[in-house]
Amino acid sequence: MSCRGNGGKYPIAIDGTAAAGKSTLGVALARRYGYTLFDTGVTYRAFTLLALREGVPADDEAACVELARRADLRIEGQDETRVWIEDEDVTGRLRDAAVEASVSEYSAIGGVREVMVALQREIALRNPCVVVGRDIGTVVLPDAPVKFFLTASDETRADRRAAQAGTWGQRQDARAATTDIIRRDRIDSTRGALRQPEGAIVIDTTEISPEAVVRQAVEVIECD
Ligand code: C5P
Repeated sequence: MSCRGNGGKYPIAIDGTAAAGKSTLGVALARRYGYTLFDTGVTYRAFTLLALREGVPADDEAACVELARRADLRIEGQDETRVWIEDEDVTGRLRDAAVEASVSEYSAIGGVREVMVALQREIALRNPCVVVGRDIGTVVLPDAPVKFFLTASDETRADRRAAQAGTWGQRQDARAATTDIIRRDRIDSTRGALRQPEGAIVIDTTEISPEAVVRQAVEVIECD
């Protein structure tokens, strides 16, 4: 069997649960094909940061939607998705504990999602992209020619998130990470944002190395 090149397939959609390895796969595929990595979680995180700063609570839907409509968010970056609110680069603030704790509540608001999905579509279609999120293959880019859905056990995801927190200059033990991840998944799934897209290739990353996940994905893309 000869499988060469990816046939110019883009955008590539990667969805899945928190800390299942979506970004790791996204970075690897973006580098391999020279595509831009677009991590859509940053749009919800930047909006959450803005709402917290402006004192707009997640239970005031109308005010949140109004804020989302007038928010001046700018997204750029090749390997890493960077975000500006007006002229301020807020990328380094997006993993703050306050954002982490509230992002699922803010991103559960339908009107906020509408604004973010429109922004994400516009960015994703600007350049060949690998797009990472929760609803990329179902809502944002349902026509994407390649879709992956990543999962992993709660325990594995919590360990990975605790290790990742260290690289973000934070301290989080595995138990706190488990609680946080399970809580976010529950909110993300209940409101329907986290759903396996039809036709998506499911990869369970619990037992396999990041390199093996990339190999599986590349095999699918280049031999399809
Ligand atoms: O992927 P990340 O952990 O940065 O996402 C943060 C949160 O943003 C998720 O828990 C989810 O609530 C929300 N999100 C979403 N749809 C996306 C990306 C992220 O609802 N496409």
